Amino acid sequence: MSETVVDRRFLLNGASDISVSFEFFPPKTEKMEQVLWASIERLAPLCPSFVSVTYGAGGSTRERTHSTVERIIQETKLKPAAHLTCVDASKEAVNEVIQSYWDAGVRHIVALRGDPAAGVGEKYKPHPDGYQTTADLVASIREIGDFEVSVSAYPERHPESPSWDVEIDVLKAKVDAGATRAITQFFFDNEHYLRYVDRVRAAGINIPILPGIVPVTSFKGISSFAAKTGASVPAWLAHRFEGLDDDPRTRELVAAAVAAEQVLDLVDNGVIDFHFYTMNKADLVYAICHMLGLRSREGMVTKQCVAA
Ligand code: FAD
Repeated sequence: MSETVVDRRFLLNGASDISVSFEFFPPKTEKMEQVLWASIERLAPLCPSFVSVTYGAGGSTRERTHSTVERIIQETKLKPAAHLTCVDASKEAVNEVIQSYWDAGVRHIVALRGDPAAGVGEKYKPHPDGYQTTADLVASIREIGDFEVSVSAYPERHPESPSWDVEIDVLKAKVDAGATRAITQFFFDNEHYLRYVDRVRAAGINIPILPGIVPVTSFKGISSFAAKTGASVPAWLAHRFEGLDDDPRTRELVAAAVAAEQVLDLVDNGVIDFHFYTMNKADLVYAICHMLGLRSREGMVTKQCVAA
C-alpha cells in the first residue's frame, strides 16, 4: 500500500470531507412504507446532500413517487430529488409531472429516458408526441422551473451503446441541455469508474460524476439486475458470496466488507461524493457511511441539518 493510499482514507474527517446521497424506491404496501420511513429516519441524521426517489418503469409509480417525495418535503428537512422518465409518455404528460413536482416544492429532478415497456434490451422508440432524447427532457425541465437536474452515466457503457464516442456524446448533450450532475449505474470494479471519469474529463465534461454504490444484499438479485443493465459482476465478487445463500448473517457481513472496501478504494483515488442505492434498507449503508467518517447529527428528520 502506497503512502498516498494510507493518507487519504485515514485522513477522512466526516461531513467536511465526504458527501453522500441516498436513493429510495416508492413503497407499494403499507409495510414497505414503514420500512422505507424507518430507513429514511435512520439515514437522515447523516445529512445527505439529497435523497432521490425512483420512478417505476414506464411511469408505473407516478403517484407513489410523487407522494413519497411530497412526504419527504413535508416531514423532513431532506432535499428530495424526484426521478422522471419520458418513455411511453407525451411531452404534455411529462410536463404535467414536472409542473406537479415544482408545485409540491421539488427543486431537483433526476432526468431519464427510461426503458422500453417490452423490457431492457428491446429497441427504444420514443413516444410519437414525446421527448425524443433525454437531453430534450433536460432542456424542458430547465425551462419549466429553476430545477437542479441530474442525469445517468454508465461506466461500463449502456447496453444499447454502439461505442464510447456515442456514450460520451449522449452525456455531453445532457450536460449542454442543463444537467449539472451525473449519477452512475452501479459497478463493482472501481477501474471502470475511474477510466470512465478520465474519458468524460477528456471530452471537456466537468460536472460531478457520482459513483452509484450498491450494497450486495442479495448476490443472486444483484447479478440478474446487473445482467440487464450492462454492469459486470467480477468473478472475485461471486467467489466472496459463494456458499452463503442460506447464511444471511454472514452474507450481510461480507456485503458490508465488500462495499466498505469499494468506497475506501475510491476515497484513495480522490472520490469524495457517493450515491448509494439503498434498496430502502438502512443498516448496510449506514455502516458504510460510518466507515467514510460520517456521524449522525440528530434533528435532520424534523429540523435543519446543521453543519458540524
Ligand atoms: P440516456 O442517457 O438518454 O441514454 C442511455 C444510453 O443509450 C446512452 O448512454 C447511449 O449508450 C444510448 N443512446 C442514447 N441515445 C442514443 C442515440 N441517439 N444513438 C445511439 N445510442 C444512444 N429507470 C427508470 O425507469 N426509473 C428510474 O427512476 C431510473 N433511475 C435511474 C437512475 C440512475 C442513476 C441510472 C444510471 C439509471 C436509472 N434508470 C431508471 C434506468 C434508465 O432509465 C435506463 O438505463 C434506460 O435504458 C436509459 O435511460 P437514460 O436516461 O440513462 O438514457
